[in-house]
Amino acid sequence: MAKDNKNLNKKPKFSPYWIYGFVIVAFLAIQLFSSGFGGSSSKKINPSDFFGFMEQGDVEKIEIVNGREARVYLTKDALAKEVHKKSKPSSIMPFSPQPNYSFEFGEQELFQKKIESINDADNGVFVPTTFFTEENFIGNMIFSLLPFILIIGVWIFIMRRMSGGSGGGAGGQIFNIGKSKAKLFDEKTDVKTSFKDVAGLEGAKEEVQEIVDFLKNPEKYTSLGGKIPKGALLVGQPGTGKTLLAKAVAGEAKVPFFSLSGSDFVEMFVGVGASRVRDLFKQAKEKSPAIIFIDEIDAIGRARGKSNFSGSNDERENTLNQLLTEMDGFGTNTNVIVLAATNRADVLDKALMRAGRFDRQIFVDLPDVRERKEIFEVHLRPIKQSEKLDVDFLAKQTPGFSGADIANVCNEAALIAARNGKKAVDKQDFLDAVDRIVGGLEKKNKIITKDEKKAIAFHEAGHATVSWMLEHAAPLVKVTIVPRGQSLGAAWYLPEERLIVRPEQMLDEMCASLGGRAAEKVIFNKISTGALSDLEKVTKQARAMVTIYGLSEKVGNLTYYDSSGQEQGFTKPYSEKTAEVIDKEISDIIEEQYQRAIKLLENNKNKLTELAEVLLVKEVIFKDNLEKIFGERPFKKEIEERLIQSQKTEEGEEE
Ligand code: ADP
Ligand code: ZN
Repeated sequence: MAKDNKNLNKKPKFSPYWIYGFVIVAFLAIQLFSSGFGGSSSKKINPSDFFGFMEQGDVEKIEIVNGREARVYLTKDALAKEVHKKSKPSSIMPFSPQPNYSFEFGEQELFQKKIESINDADNGVFVPTTFFTEENFIGNMIFSLLPFILIIGVWIFIMRRMSGGSGGGAGGQIFNIGKSKAKLFDEKTDVKTSFKDVAGLEGAKEEVQEIVDFLKNPEKYTSLGGKIPKGALLVGQPGTGKTLLAKAVAGEAKVPFFSLSGSDFVEMFVGVGASRVRDLFKQAKEKSPAIIFIDEIDAIGRARGKSNFSGSNDERENTLNQLLTEMDGFGTNTNVIVLAATNRADVLDKALMRAGRFDRQIFVDLPDVRERKEIFEVHLRPIKQSEKLDVDFLAKQTPGFSGADIANVCNEAALIAARNGKKAVDKQDFLDAVDRIVGGLEKKNKIITKDEKKAIAFHEAGHATVSWMLEHAAPLVKVTIVPRGQSLGAAWYLPEERLIVRPEQMLDEMCASLGGRAAEKVIFNKISTGALSDLEKVTKQARAMVTIYGLSEKVGNLTYYDSSGQEQGFTKPYSEKTAEVIDKEISDIIEEQYQRAIKLLENNKNKLTELAEVLLVKEVIFKDNLEKIFGERPFKKEIEERLIQSQKTEEGEEE
């Protein structure tokens, strides 16, 4: 979402630089062409005036330029006369005197005859006449180069478009290619983002709050001998609010905010990246205290020396080196703090993380239910709602959504309502918006045979039934057999957000995942390939139980997980014999849960069938439909109790 926004801002703007450049060139060309240098600056007169002056002996000499124009130089005495006061004085430039008058005479032969007749007349006047052609050198040059200038300009414009750069900046780039493309937000460009606009993210906000403090009263820290950090790295998935957070820092500290993306440094011209970095820091220092925000720093900050396939790497390395140099170069008293964002801290060059550079890392995670609720509240503010929306409900409907996704849902809901001609946005619009963002547009026209549809319905109904019956399986939100994107059917669950998972929870979840295949087996006595992703998930989970979490009795309380992340290569950290035990354990666990699912479904075959039939008709069913068929959920009391319990521990004492 953030990305889209940026592009939108850039594209349609046509840079004024282009127009300036063009106007200047055209103006010069016209100027230089229409009149010579000298002629343009002297006073224009009529030929008859000139003959008058000449007869009175005021004229010292005449130049005839290009057979078209006459330039008149007056004598010293004449210059003192009242009539000539308005003429251009010729004494300004002693070495190349300027003509005092100029005019165009029309027919050259007639003109020359007239001059000769005055010269020949017996009045003591003789005015020498010289002829020359003046090459309008600069004008000609510009004129003949004009097509080239235009072609080169258009070429650069197109190249920059193609290389993904902004079209808008292109015109300016011709003149200042090495200048940083940073967008500056300061008091004038009233972008007043504050911590109020950032929902959730408590931990990150707290850490960032400190940076605001550094910027506001640096003396408080430096007086005790402390050093103010130069940089902090915001790490998190796209759309989690990293840019927003950085803007809020600038807004809270009331300092200018330079924002640009790592890819803005990387250009096809050699050396541009480094000089842009230099320029950026120079600008920031001039405006200090200030914040520099570099989005997607991995574009320049990738570990050096890796993946050396193309020449552009050298350019990136130069840029990175320049960045490191700049960060080392400015003292702690400069009051410029660099914030950078990435979703891949692991690929960054270690040198970036060294002390005095980005030595702080702030993690920005996907929001949990409570945070999603807060984010909804922020983005619902500008939306006209037809009823009081249940924000809790919306938050629960959107597990795994990022802040940007939620902003998108709110916007999309408003668009959907508008499209349907509504005066305000209601709950259904929000649900539709969630649907749209979750699964891409529904593809109702995907061709599925009747049998396939039935199989899918029973498969999904199997998941739903099993998870309904089990105490620890995640509660179901919605089941659909409308194909979306890649999948033919889908079930949405509401995972409890837990920090510690107990074995019975894992087993119940595995049982529910196997419910799809079990239902196919129970109803059709046939299984299909439709359970691939279920099996993948279950196998991974079982393996983790045995080899990572030490939850298998036969293998014991040990783990083969290595948190240091050192790769083992091809050798396994256990013997062949243990490998056999592990494999046996994994398949036993899965088989046990599969049988459990089958048994559950056989005991509830009628309800399963009923559910599948509803699903075939409606294509989408919700929790309410399940309740209607199955009655109250088993273990409802236990589940509620656990929920209360977990909220208590959250509020009160920690374990
Ligand atoms: P990132 O930089 O992490 O990719 P952004 O900061 O650009 O993400 O977030 C994009 C948009 O998503 C923001 O402009 C904002 O509207 C919304 N958003 C993301 N996180 C939050 C949040 N915690 N609170 C409120 N809005 C958020
Ligand atoms: Zn399935």
